[in-house]
Amino acid sequence: MESSRIYFDYNATSLIRPESINSVNKILSSYGNPSSIHKEGRLMRSLIEESREKVSKSLSTSSKNIIFTSGGTEAIDIALNQSPGRLIINSTEHIAVFESAKRLNIDIDILDVDSNGLIRMDLLENLLKKGPALVSIMLANNETGVIQPIKEISKIVKSYDSLLFCDAVQAFGKVKLSFDDLGIDLMAVSAHKIGGFSGSGALVIKKDMNYLIPRVSGGGQELGLRGGTENLLGIISFGECASILNEIDNESIRLKKLVNLLEDNLSSLGAFIYSYNVERLSNTSLFSFSELRAETLLMKLDLAGFSVSSGSACNSGKVKESHVLKAMNVDENMQEGAIRVSLGWGSNKKEVKNFISFFENIFNKTAKE
Ligand code: PLP
Repeated sequence: MESSRIYFDYNATSLIRPESINSVNKILSSYGNPSSIHKEGRLMRSLIEESREKVSKSLSTSSKNIIFTSGGTEAIDIALNQSPGRLIINSTEHIAVFESAKRLNIDIDILDVDSNGLIRMDLLENLLKKGPALVSIMLANNETGVIQPIKEISKIVKSYDSLLFCDAVQAFGKVKLSFDDLGIDLMAVSAHKIGGFSGSGALVIKKDMNYLIPRVSGGGQELGLRGGTENLLGIISFGECASILNEIDNESIRLKKLVNLLEDNLSSLGAFIYSYNVERLSNTSLFSFSELRAETLLMKLDLAGFSVSSGSACNSGKVKESHVLKAMNVDENMQEGAIRVSLGWGSNKKEVKNFISFFENIFNKTAKE
């Protein structure tokens, strides 16, 4: 990355960690198909299994529960394919969930959230009363950072003999996760959100889920759930990044201080901070200034050297409506101004102060005009 730029878009993708690059450099010229029984094949197999151990350890579960995939999107797609004929989807899920669900051609109920983006437990229970379903609820939202009370949710889902799929792509690496304790049946994680390379991720499955239906059968790799010769380099870097997540608590405190600094200053300039009073990822802040449009602001920020996102998805340079803010019943005018800042391991106080100065200058200028 150019040193003059300030990258505040870790929820889109993290800066690649140096550990990730080193791990891949070490084996760049190695070869061998991990399914072959000769020496080269066995060496590659052992590297994959080491990575599986590292990923499983970071999620406090058995390595037998880790199915490597091409990323979060593919893990979501396999998970939703396990539906017992009915799906309940949280309205603020990632677009990958809605797109996979569409292809299934089964009954789908959408679960509403409150104005903070937290799911409505009463509505969840009402929907579960209709019969067993696969429930899809993300752990942390990519736009607002809001963290859902997954343990509580899983208890409700279990009491109605239903299954819970949790998209933990944003939460993984930012909060401590114990797959075994959370009572989740299926979970998705992704390497590029934790400093690894894109194109690698995992579906985490409960050990008694031995009847899973694959999307790609191929040569039967990954317990027959995800066929095809493994993405060796991606998996190695994924394992390496997972193994250095043990400092999550300290990093989370550091990032929270930076986000507090940012939010205190932007609030005093008149910003509205979304989901301010509920539990959120420590690195994420979504805010709007009622008088500023995200589309123009993003361009100005980019020219000034800041990489951030609008709250909503950007497509062909146009800012699209955010289904997350819409589900939270946010006024359309405010939705159009939403800017997401997401910090990470390379972020520091000086960068945050520069970002605050950018907004102070905008408002000083406007005041003089
Ligand atoms: N789920 C969430 C919450 C995400 O933020 C993303 C990526 O932005 C995905 C799923 C998709 O993950 P991947 O890019 O690894 O396919």
